[in-house]
Parts: sequence; C-alpha cells; structure tokens
Amino acid sequence: MKEGICINCSRSFIKSPRHKNQSYCKREKCQRAKKADWQRQKLRTDPEYKASQKLSNRKWIGSNPGYWKSYRGRNPEKAERNRMLQRLRNKKKASCKADGMDTIAKMDASESLSHTTFKVMGQYFLVPVIAKMDALKVNIVVISTGYQ
Ligand SMILES: [Zn+2]
Repeated sequence: MKEGICINCSRSFIKSPRHKNQSYCKREKCQRAKKADWQRQKLRTDPEYKASQKLSNRKWIGSNPGYWKSYRGRNPEKAERNRMLQRLRNKKKASCKADGMDTIAKMDASESLSHTTFKVMGQYFLVPVIAKMDALKVNIVVISTGYQ
C-alpha cells in the first residue's frame, strides 16, 4: 500500500492498489473536485464534448427558467465575484484585440491603475490566479492620506 497526498485537500491517503496514479483522496469534496477537474480538462481538449455540454446546459436552462436569477439572489457574493471576473475577462479580451494577445505580460500595476478610476476605499475581491481557489473579499480603507 502506498501513501499519497490529495491534491485538493493536501491530506495524506492510502492509494488503492488498482489506481496507482490516484491523486485525490476519497472524501466527497475531493471526489467532486476530481470530477470538476476532469470536466474542465475535457472541455478544453474535446470540442465535441464541449458542444454537447453547451447543448445540454441550454436544454437544462430552458426547463429551469429563472434558476440563475434566483441563484444570484441567494448568493449575492458569488454573483458579485462573477461580475467582477467577467469584467476582467472583458477587459483582457478588449486589450488582447487592441495589442495582439500579450496583454498580461505588458501590463504593470501602475499602468493599469492610471487608466482606471481606482477608488481606494471600499470592498474588493482578491482573486487568486489559480482558478480553483475562491476569491477573498476584503475591505480596503485609507490609513494614511499621504499617497493620493
Ligand atoms: Zn482530499
């Protein structure tokens, strides 16, 4: 029996002898993460799967009208996070079109601050680069007015 470290929860687990490349433990949460990872990978690499998933999502939405509206009502924080991530995606897309796909490498913090209206005080999400992690919601307040 070999031990492994779960790539989702970082706990050690005993690998099944039948699955030598097992990288997730048996906890339900981790099995769900495993499935989600598999699906993300599949969507990226299999256009047919992607098309069929899109179709099946459309059908499901058609038979569950109002689901996303009520979801956003029940989860305002997630809705806000999604809005913010979409804004980032739109911005990235727009600037990719403008200067040919190398936006992230070119942009530095001061540049991005200078052409957006950045309010110092307020609530912000810290969005991790790793897509799996949840955003962290923080309050940002001014502690010194020297820098404005
Ligand atoms: Zn785990």
